[in-house]
Amino acid sequence: MPGGFPEFRLGAVLATSFTGTLSERYGEPVERIPTPRRLVDWLAVNGLAVDSCTAAQLERARELRESIHATATAAALHEALPAAAVGVINDCSSNGRAAAILTTEGSRHWRLGSASGVDDALGVIAADAIEIIAGDRDGRLALCASPTCRAAFFDTSRSRTRRWCDMNTCGNRQKKARFAAKRRPVSPVAR
Ligand SMILES: [Zn+2]
Repeated sequence: MPGGFPEFRLGAVLATSFTGTLSERYGEPVERIPTPRRLVDWLAVNGLAVDSCTAAQLERARELRESIHATATAAALHEALPAAAVGVINDCSSNGRAAAILTTEGSRHWRLGSASGVDDALGVIAADAIEIIAGDRDGRLALCASPTCRAAFFDTSRSRTRRWCDMNTCGNRQKKARFAAKRRPVSPVAR
């Protein structure tokens, strides 16, 4: 835990990496962006460096995060999308003014405004969520098989059979639990 804070989980998909900053939603929740500073750190790690973040912006970020979680969960279950949550995603997407920049090395960078950094970053995250929820990217939205997690993740495996949001945490824990269950001696039959 760097500085006493839970570590970030890094994923290939921006929007679901962002929803992963809160994990174990149905167990003992782990908040990975508990302070504005940690949100700044998370954004920097994900190519969205900003100078500063206020408490209100952190609150807005968490509102977007839970809205993406709720909407992606509904999409994964093929249920109607929650209108209020969709509204938050759309507000964030339209408020952001990030510009996509092509480098001469051929990669994409995001240019964020110096005064509107966090809003612009949230706009990029919201647009990424729209893309995966709308089915515009190759992959499948699914829910983590861990009952205490149930995080929405984006499965880009060829077979589309990924079961866990994160192999190193949820996947590993499940494997260990199964191993322990196998090794447990058979309980004597009650007479
Ligand atoms: Zn999980």
